[in-house]
Amino acid sequence: MDCLEKGSLTSNGGLGIGSLFASNIALVFKWWWRFYSTQDALWKDVICSIHGNNAGLNVDVDTIFIPEVGDGSLFSFREDHWLGNNNFKTSFPRLFALEVDKLCKIKDRCTVSSGLLNYNWAWRCLVRDGHEGNQLTDLLNLLQQVRFKDSTDKWICYLDHSKVFTVAAMTSLVEKSILWNLDLRGIDLDSTRCPVCDDAIETTHHLFIECEISRVLWNSLKIWWGMMAVPINMESLISWAYHSSLSITLKNCFDVVVQTTFSIIWRYRNSICINPNLQEKIP
Ligand SMILES: [Zn+2]
Repeated sequence: MDCLEKGSLTSNGGLGIGSLFASNIALVFKWWWRFYSTQDALWKDVICSIHGNNAGLNVDVDTIFIPEVGDGSLFSFREDHWLGNNNFKTSFPRLFALEVDKLCKIKDRCTVSSGLLNYNWAWRCLVRDGHEGNQLTDLLNLLQQVRFKDSTDKWICYLDHSKVFTVAAMTSLVEKSILWNLDLRGIDLDSTRCPVCDDAIETTHHLFIECEISRVLWNSLKIWWGMMAVPINMESLISWAYHSSLSITLKNCFDVVVQTTFSIIWRYRNSICINPNLQEKIP
């Protein structure tokens, strides 16, 4: 994935493949957003369990999707991060180990009546002095900050000023995160030159057609299969076999060789991105 990422941004002279990765992540978030903003946190949990708490990227989910408490009917009192620095089960572990209903909603435990907060606790046993009591005191202090509204709870998306989730904005964020990750790994993001020859700006046309290693490989294929000439653009190179005078069976065989050669060039280019010392070895 590293090198697909390196080649991700066409604005960086890359091949645009990493953008597919970014788009896919953005689409996953779209589904998460759709479910999360209308139902419950299940999809966020699914994404985080697969990709880690930040989707495996430098994307902090908790700073993008912010809960806005309304009547307390949607958010989980204990599980969701809706108040303070973390969710309650993390901030007050001793206390919330006593909670009877782990998935209770905010309104099940905390409501406002005549401007006053009312609590409806359901602890398994009496809250004791010490850690549990201290955590309850801290919780009560924190809950003083809550401002309930008549509307239902909802999630606000802070991808940009519009506060509306769009795949395009999410894709852009993921792409930036990819660059950030690469930067951490010491890959030179400023370089848009071909990693194989360092002799030209890296484009699809250069890597697969003009670059020295590609020219050698395609020329070898031409000689091996008795072709007249090597195609000079991507489109005709990809369909080289089917523009030849070979029999149908041989066309199919030759096409496999051509597509395999594309794969070899791409993998070789990627291996150099990871380890420039491999430059002398041709796979
Ligand atoms: Zn090159």
